[in-house]
Amino acid sequence: MSGAGAGLSLGRYAVATDPGRKRRQNEDAFVVRPPLFAIADGMGGARAGEIASELAAGALKDAEARGGGEARVKQLVQEANRRVHERASNDPATSGMGTTMTVALVEPSGELTFGHVGDSRAYVLRGDTLEQLTDDHSLVAELVRRGELSARDAEVHPQRSVITRALGTDPDVDVDAFTWRPEAGDVYLLCSDGLSDMVAGETIEEILRRHRGDLDDAAKALVKAANRGGGDDNITAVLFELVEGEAVPEEPDERTREMVVSPDEEDTLHPEDGVRPPPPRDDATEPADTMVVPAAEIDAALAAEEPETPHAGIGRRLLALLVILALIAIIVVLVWWGLAR
Ligand code: MN
Repeated sequence: MSGAGAGLSLGRYAVATDPGRKRRQNEDAFVVRPPLFAIADGMGGARAGEIASELAAGALKDAEARGGGEARVKQLVQEANRRVHERASNDPATSGMGTTMTVALVEPSGELTFGHVGDSRAYVLRGDTLEQLTDDHSLVAELVRRGELSARDAEVHPQRSVITRALGTDPDVDVDAFTWRPEAGDVYLLCSDGLSDMVAGETIEEILRRHRGDLDDAAKALVKAANRGGGDDNITAVLFELVEGEAVPEEPDERTREMVVSPDEEDTLHPEDGVRPPPPRDDATEPADTMVVPAAEIDAALAAEEPETPHAGIGRRLLALLVILALIAIIVVLVWWGLAR
């Protein structure tokens, strides 16, 4: 490994995945192929979401990436997009399927390159502080960025599963890619929204701090916390750390690659992990399925409401947006139905 200017290299890594408490299938997929890590959260009727995330993860596994920076990571995600879109275009049973994808590549230099589409997340625990590295491509995140919605309201918003970008829905996808300079001791987390929707950021931070000495325990504790928080969705957590030195990463081991944490496995969640009860929810019964609404349509919906006076019309504007989204949802369901028959 030449050019290790930062003097950092990949340390330990771990993964845990679980269907959660409300869903029978696990439509999350992950890639643990050091120096490449990724997670993909699939969506689509029947088993299409599972197919989408597996196709996307498979594209990364086939690529055997060993570095190459932002251009390379964008290329990897584009290839994953191409595979999912091609299948969705040719196989009516999977029409409309899609997946998120968040990728981290440890470069030979010791730097990290991230690629990201959708509402899965990358975080870093640096020192004792958790920081979110990716921006969610979701309706609620977009509303928060525009000042239309508070971060607190976003957590319980009924449309929080609407994402604005996904792999598979179009021949091309707009990929966020960025380079990140790690520090020794950093712990990185890639996760699906089944974790970040169910567990508050401060709790994720506490769990990673408590279990940073054993990343397997940390990953299991995160899954357990998400299940205790409701387990509304599939939960996946990929963890890796950057350490001092130039150690050559060990080969990916088969056990962690396919490891699934079952609910009755040993309790690795410390009582002091302090998992808080989930926030009050409007949709306590059936978790909403993820759907994609392109940002342009959200722009149009918001622009149509623009001549309102500031602040006064926010409630009505949100209501109008909800009505529009409900209509889109009905259309999508009808189209799916039509295609499925
Ligand atoms: Mn999900």
